[in-house]
Amino acid sequence: MSNDKKDISPFTAGEWKDKAWQKKAAEQQKTYAHFLHKPNKNKILRRLPDLHEAAFKQIDCLKCAACCKNYSPRFKTPDIKRISRHLKLKESVFIDTYLRLDEDGDYVTKQSPCPFLGADNYCSIYEQRPSDCERFPYTDEDVLLNRPKITLKNSTFCPAVFYVMEQLLALK
Ligand code: SF4
Ligand code: SF4
Repeated sequence: MSNDKKDISPFTAGEWKDKAWQKKAAEQQKTYAHFLHKPNKNKILRRLPDLHEAAFKQIDCLKCAACCKNYSPRFKTPDIKRISRHLKLKESVFIDTYLRLDEDGDYVTKQSPCPFLGADNYCSIYEQRPSDCERFPYTDEDVLLNRPKITLKNSTFCPAVFYVMEQLLALK
């Protein structure tokens, strides 16, 4: 998720219109799964930086925020220390106020949408946000290939993942 405001309207052209991409992403899940089963990793990793950049030239996270509205990042120990310090809260108070442990033993937000998401879709702790938020949606990382289940799920709600998957399929 990026707080960088862009002078574009998302989803306005072609396949982005009226969010028709979400229907297509749902239909493409089996195709994506097949593609991710035995990917040509080196070839794909070389293409990801350009595809990631192209995706975010067309997509404005501030007009989306689907990740922050529907899913929680993990708050790892360094994240908790950094954000608590920024908010001038004791770590225990920060945890009690905002976090819970999930089934994997990771701290995640108690509530959804994320309590740090503003009505304008800006993140109020952007400079200190969890590393998961900084890296999401992993479209420029090997996580895209190494965690296919996550990539498939992300492709259903993040237009950048959908865009990159469609471009990778077209390269075959
Ligand atoms: S779901 Fe994807 S496009 Fe939407 S705000 Fe998150 S990272 Fe940006
Ligand atoms: S911390 Fe910020 S970037 Fe991360 S989910 Fe919350 S609002 Fe979004």
